[in-house]
Amino acid sequence: MVKKYVYLFHEGSKDQKDLLGGKGANLAEMTNLGLPVPPGFTITTEACNEYTRLGMRLPDGLMDQVRAALATVEQAAGKRFGDATTPLLVSVRSGAKFSMPGMMDTVLNLGLNDTTLKGLIAQTGDERFGYDAYRRFVMMFSDIVLGLERRKFDRIFDEAKQAAGVKEDWQLPAAALKEVVAKFKALVKSETGEDFPDGPMRQLELAIRAVFNSWNNERAYRYREIEKIPHDLGTAVNVQTMVFGNMGADSGTGVAFTRDASTGEKKISGEYLVNAQGEDVVAGIRTPSDVAQLERENPQLYKQFAEICETLERHYRDMMDVEFTFEKGRLYFLQCRVAKRATRAAVKIAVDMANEGLITKQEALGRVPPQRLDDLLHPQLDPRVKTVPIGDVAPDVARVVASKPAVIFVDGNEVRTMSAAEWHALPDRDAVLAGAKFIDIARGLPASPGAASGVAVFDPDTAAARGIGKGNEDIILVREETSPDDIHGMTAARGILTERGGMSSHAALVARGFGKPCVAGCEAISVEEEQKRFTIAGVTVAEGQALTIDGSTGRVLLGVTPTMAPEIFPELDEFLRWADEVARLKVRTNADNPPDAANAVRFGAMGIGLLRAEHMFLQKERLPAVRQMLLAATDAKALEAEADALRKEQEGATGEKRAQLEQRLNDTLGRLEGPMGHYRGAIARILPMLQDDFQQIFRVMDGRPVTIRLMDPPMHEFLPDHDALLEEVTRLRATGADGAELREKEQLLAAVNAMREANPMLGLRGCRLGILFPEISEMQVQAIFRAALKLAAEGKPVHPEIMIPLVGFETELATMRELVDRTARAEMQAAGREVPYLSGTMIELPRAALRAGDIAKQAQFFSFGTNDLTQTTLGVSRDDAEGKFLQKYLEMGILKENPFETIDQDGVGAIMKMAVEAGRATRPDLKLGICGEHGGEPKSVEFCHKIGLDYVSCSPFRVPIARLAAAQAALGEGAERDR
Ligand code: PEP
Ligand code: MG
Repeated sequence: MVKKYVYLFHEGSKDQKDLLGGKGANLAEMTNLGLPVPPGFTITTEACNEYTRLGMRLPDGLMDQVRAALATVEQAAGKRFGDATTPLLVSVRSGAKFSMPGMMDTVLNLGLNDTTLKGLIAQTGDERFGYDAYRRFVMMFSDIVLGLERRKFDRIFDEAKQAAGVKEDWQLPAAALKEVVAKFKALVKSETGEDFPDGPMRQLELAIRAVFNSWNNERAYRYREIEKIPHDLGTAVNVQTMVFGNMGADSGTGVAFTRDASTGEKKISGEYLVNAQGEDVVAGIRTPSDVAQLERENPQLYKQFAEICETLERHYRDMMDVEFTFEKGRLYFLQCRVAKRATRAAVKIAVDMANEGLITKQEALGRVPPQRLDDLLHPQLDPRVKTVPIGDVAPDVARVVASKPAVIFVDGNEVRTMSAAEWHALPDRDAVLAGAKFIDIARGLPASPGAASGVAVFDPDTAAARGIGKGNEDIILVREETSPDDIHGMTAARGILTERGGMSSHAALVARGFGKPCVAGCEAISVEEEQKRFTIAGVTVAEGQALTIDGSTGRVLLGVTPTMAPEIFPELDEFLRWADEVARLKVRTNADNPPDAANAVRFGAMGIGLLRAEHMFLQKERLPAVRQMLLAATDAKALEAEADALRKEQEGATGEKRAQLEQRLNDTLGRLEGPMGHYRGAIARILPMLQDDFQQIFRVMDGRPVTIRLMDPPMHEFLPDHDALLEEVTRLRATGADGAELREKEQLLAAVNAMREANPMLGLRGCRLGILFPEISEMQVQAIFRAALKLAAEGKPVHPEIMIPLVGFETELATMRELVDRTARAEMQAAGREVPYLSGTMIELPRAALRAGDIAKQAQFFSFGTNDLTQTTLGVSRDDAEGKFLQKYLEMGILKENPFETIDQDGVGAIMKMAVEAGRATRPDLKLGICGEHGGEPKSVEFCHKIGLDYVSCSPFRVPIARLAAAQAALGEGAERDR
């Protein structure tokens, strides 16, 4: 038996997208709903796949099934295919499961030839209409099915208009159109060597083949690659009775959304053209009218139209987009599908539909992919912005950047520049924007979302002097890469652009924490920090030149580019509250300062999951004290060790030897006084500053838990850059400048040298630092508890949680835990009151994960530091790898996802799971969280839900994303694809 390849519309349903494609399935559904759909049929995707399998041959029996289906359609339409008196004309459209621009789209009026044309004219009594339909058909068929260049047909048509002295298509009289058709056919003959196919069945077969072929064309193939659509789905073909929107003033055609696709407002939106065929709406030749006008001009028709829209929404329980045509006052629906929508609209529609009772709250939560919420929380590039690569216009751009224009774009063939004020004063700004192409400089990694514009500044001091808080200029800080030395400049900048570094580089982490846009690892620009400039495509961009970065996509544009501001709106608030109701995972934030914490609370954070104490040390005015503390600490500790050794030696010694040792010990203790004094002095100066910060943060968090991690990074991050220092010392030596300055710098250089490590990420950091310099750890714990006790004294709730970083051994944690408990107890005793607190650790080394059962003996909570855990489990440097090889790995498909963005579930995830089980086996009430960058990434959040964590913690701007992802994880449903 031959397979069924052809389905009449009434034989299918909306659930058969695999077989009938999206368009076919929905046409079937509408037909069965009794809506006015012109009769037709769908050739299945299986037929397409079989055609490909057979080496581009139509499967046996397919055309017989087509003929049979056509007979039924003829009956329903009361017309006959190829008939000279009542000809049936059809449209032929491709329709895959997912909508795919880049594939063959539509051929209209198929079935026309010199004979059927007569019938069409007789039926309509309109010769002009007949010839117009005919010329459209020949052109479309030649272009889409025969693959001839449309341009050549356009030229013939334009010449005809010129010859007739008319401007608009519709002004061309029948006789001229007739001539156009003849010329079109002659062109086909000269291009293909064959006559234009006149037989309707032949036309239909060729069109079906063309649709199938288009599934395999280069463009469609590439589109599927990008969109990750499987290549073996195939496309369906829809053959449908033509209805005409171009039969006069009571005919028309349009597209509409059942709600507003950008705001979500419950109101039909869309546009239509009177006396036009479908392609005219899309082609943009005439300006369409708002559907609201249809309501005014033809209330009867509009009423029916609106009722059907309502029916479709109720039936699909979603916002739809539709294509419709009215022919001599009679309405038809030609397509419907679940509508794509802006994120804001997606949230509002989900909430409204749940409130209308159309869908459940749970369904509403499943309707917005969490990642898309990001769009709402940062300024975005205006979606109307179009671009041209700088390489295409480099000479022109090079000429004008010397004057550092604020706004620069290409308009036609001309590069235009103007000041920001001039741009805003443009009376026809929207029209200019529509024609403008902004200059695309390069693309880096989308390291922290949002768009920002400002002038390029290449060093943090200038940025701090000119930027937010001081000069209040909008600055983009451009660096080769950033370091903790740059923090003050980063704070003052609107956005950060780096040449090197990956998604978890310093720039990326800090920018995400600040909620500032960042494009990292933009290797195409060569930054010369000293010269305060970068070059790209031969164009030099110097300090003061305006740039725009889009951290959501990684794009970098020249000049100020239009953006749109974010806002939290009531429906989003309601939506996220629903998410919290169903989520099991709590969502905390990574924040180290009061504004970030306040922002996170606004976004719904239920606590702080990671406060990196070192970020408090890194504020510019604190750095001198911190440096003094660390430099003196090293000296003091060396001398202390020397004194200890002497004491030991002395114990066993007698007589002269003992006296000698005594002398040396006294000498050492004397030398220790200076560094120790500096060390303790610096600590004493830093303590109240930290205490003040903690107090403010506890206040902002208002009783929510606050996890404070004691200082973690390698010491050199707090010290001046080695190479810069060396350069300076060399310069001072060469110029024989002021001796005191040289001596001071030399000392500093010696200290920096002493602390240099080949692999700082694996060196003296984390709890190792805390164990070697217990005074620094004690000071942090003192600051935390003094702050907490202050609030407690005011009757305010506080819940500090002290977290120890980079633990690998139970003994390490035991040592630190003893310090924490001892210090906390002392502070509480001194204050005469208690505050509840927890002490725990990060799990960020494989050994800690492997020995989690032991480690849990010392920890009341674990927080997975998946940045370091990924780095150490994979043996891949989080700072270097992305720029160097990870990107390539992703392109080559060696890795499917960036493990620093999405948890490597098979590797890192596996040991997390082990650690969860072992930890809970030791301590059933062990609290479990994650505070690596993955904590705000939806797939990782889902994974954390699955392995039973209690909370995720992420940067403030990702809190809403994590809340929704946590809800979806609990509901066990991913977001639907076709949105
Ligand atoms: C981590 O390693 O995942 C973490 C949160 O710590 P940091 O990024 O500060 O090393
Ligand atoms: Mg870490």
